[in-house]
Amino acid sequence: MANVKQKLLFRNKEVSTVNSSSSDGSLGKPGRPNRQKEKVNGLTDKAQGLGKPLNDSLEVDIRDFLINEAELHTYDDLTKVNPVTPSTVLKCLQARYSAKVFYTHAGCTLVALNPFQPIPHLYSLDVMREYHSAPQPQEFKPHIFIVAEEAYRNVQGQVEPMNQSLVVSGESGAGKTWTSRCLMKYYATVAASSQKSQNTVENIERRVLDSNPIMEAFGNSCTLRNSNSSRFGKYIQLQLNSSQLLVGASVHTYLLEKTRVAIQAPNERNFHIFYQMMKGATDTQRLEWMLPLEQDFAWLPHAERTLEEDCLQETIDAMINLGIDEGKRAQIFRILAGLLQLGNVDFSPASEEAQPCDLDGHSKGFLQKTAALLQVPLDELQSCLTVRNLRAGKQNILKPCSRSECTVRRDCLAKAIYAQLFDWLVAFINNSMCADSSLWCNFIGLLDVYGFECFVLNNLEQLCINYANEKLQQHFVAHYLKAQQEEYVTEGLQWSFIRYQDNQGCLDLIEGSPSSIFSLLNEECRLNRASDAKQFRVRLEKELSDNANISWDKFSKEPHFTVAHYAGRVSYQIQGMMEKNKDPVPPELTGLLQRSQDSLLHSLFADGDLESEGSRGHSKVITVVSKFKNSLESLMRILHSTTPHYTRCIKPNPDCRPLTFKKEEVIAQLEACGIVETINISAAGFPIRIPYCSFIQRYGLITNNTRAAQMNRENSPEINGQAVLGSAVKDVVNVVLKRHVPNSTLSPDDNNNMV
Ligand code: ATP
Ligand code: MG
Repeated sequence: MANVKQKLLFRNKEVSTVNSSSSDGSLGKPGRPNRQKEKVNGLTDKAQGLGKPLNDSLEVDIRDFLINEAELHTYDDLTKVNPVTPSTVLKCLQARYSAKVFYTHAGCTLVALNPFQPIPHLYSLDVMREYHSAPQPQEFKPHIFIVAEEAYRNVQGQVEPMNQSLVVSGESGAGKTWTSRCLMKYYATVAASSQKSQNTVENIERRVLDSNPIMEAFGNSCTLRNSNSSRFGKYIQLQLNSSQLLVGASVHTYLLEKTRVAIQAPNERNFHIFYQMMKGATDTQRLEWMLPLEQDFAWLPHAERTLEEDCLQETIDAMINLGIDEGKRAQIFRILAGLLQLGNVDFSPASEEAQPCDLDGHSKGFLQKTAALLQVPLDELQSCLTVRNLRAGKQNILKPCSRSECTVRRDCLAKAIYAQLFDWLVAFINNSMCADSSLWCNFIGLLDVYGFECFVLNNLEQLCINYANEKLQQHFVAHYLKAQQEEYVTEGLQWSFIRYQDNQGCLDLIEGSPSSIFSLLNEECRLNRASDAKQFRVRLEKELSDNANISWDKFSKEPHFTVAHYAGRVSYQIQGMMEKNKDPVPPELTGLLQRSQDSLLHSLFADGDLESEGSRGHSKVITVVSKFKNSLESLMRILHSTTPHYTRCIKPNPDCRPLTFKKEEVIAQLEACGIVETINISAAGFPIRIPYCSFIQRYGLITNNTRAAQMNRENSPEINGQAVLGSAVKDVVNVVLKRHVPNSTLSPDDNNNMV
């Protein structure tokens, strides 16, 4: 026990770089660290008993002393909070938030509290340049630019270049997309390759930045939790050449929530782009798009207005910069306007039995406009929506659809078009930004995926979103909490394992084999039978009840299941889940779109790679969850091949109110992402890793040690690579320690405690 405490205190002493954070709220100007060696956590060396082994009985008293509430806001790294408990960490973050300090290190991760108001100067070009040009940016105040800069410097690794990933996580509204935008601006500034005069590359940074407003206009929406919520996941790779200059970028997107185009939850909105069109259209565009100002559209609910709806011109400018020409833009907006008209089409039961559903007077007009805007024949459009084409042997049988089937087909048409259009835009953006592979050698990847979601009613979309968050959490756990501790053991360092919450059980439940929620859902889809939610619930219970992460409320009327995610429990309704997983597109609809006179719309469906109902053999169904799982697995492979940097965005209150800190909200998020375990492992561990050779080069002069001198001279394999400082440099560390902490003596077992 004495050893552990000694270690803690040594560490506090050694890394006592408590910065005096500005209390005026401005972090714009990074401050030099205030190395107050004599004052640690607000206490003097004497009070802390540095260098002296402490006996167990003192522990409680000392721990009571260690928190100095008046100075809590000055703790730049949560590893310095002592003791590290959920409540001390919370207090510290709250104190910092009140002092308008929004970034705090938590060992290997950065915690970013959302201020919910613009903070002038925090992200200015000058601040970027200061962090970029600093010899030791990590000694500046915590900032997202420190993470950015560290990744940037790491790309040119000491041993070999290494791709980097910046993983930004947090719940909806926590600030992931904002942070990703900041990171992109940072790299577009510090790694700018273009001189204004060089036309060939002049636009690359501009283009990379312009990809944001387009993707946000088409992929973000106002939800109950965030007025600019990303409804898709995004991993953007910024491509750097051998001089570390930004020469291109490519973006991968994950599972757009396309249902939103046709169905919006109460008080939520459709994608921003539709509101931008409605609000920003000129008179001419309004005529062309058939969008009179006074017209109401069923798919444009009037939920709370957002800033993003005013951005049509910004979206158009970004499209121009990325090379989407006038003709293509006109086609895109016409197609989108066509979808709005389609949303106003409603069906009424047929007046005669065995006849297709009717359209009332207004709906007819809207359908006409849809047909005109999508450039498809009106009668064919109507029959595709109302009549099903069944194949019986070699015969085609026409079967009128019920009213609800017609509605499903209408929504399906809109979803298929919107999703294809979104993919086309992403492909276009990639074509416009991506550098030739001969021009770049490394990348920095920025990951911004939708945050963990838990609504009153959750369905397949939330299951996929939360599954993605589980995967990321697992990556964090595997990379940091697990691998890090295992590495200490491999290095022969004395280490007592710190327990953490492993979410493998939950992932097994969702995606594992042979039986999991995904596998059972897929099997249900393969059987191609009418789905029965109650039956499915019984199957889940029968096959998965061994897994502790799933439970049921047997008395609930709606069939559902509850998953205990790392971030909390979520109940998913089963009704509709199987159908969503199949995501069928009636072949009549794809056939119709292939015949569109609009060349863009035609091209979106030309290769017929959409899964359509008719093409489904029993064995080759590619379901939504299978596709999503595959795309996430390939993302994970990329992440594993890079050096990750984690930023945890925290939403300080659920109402997005400026500078409001709700303890219960924050603590739940801190607990969910295992921040206390992370801090403990970082605090007890070795946050700084220096290759042996660099260490010796830096500190070798301090000692006459022959081994150190030899290591300095030779390029011995022992000194290659990034390693935790271990016994090989024990004697050098000893000297360094004695030099820096004069009163201490290092026992052979303690040598690992100092870095
Ligand atoms: P979702 O998962 O729903 O996409 P998100 O984590 O991406 O959520 P953001 O859209 O990035 O959340 O942030 C929500 C809002 O919070 C932003 O629109 C912005 O108003 C505000 N915000 C976030 N970070 C900051 C910041 N650093 N400074 C000022 N405002 C911020
Ligand atoms: Mg977002």
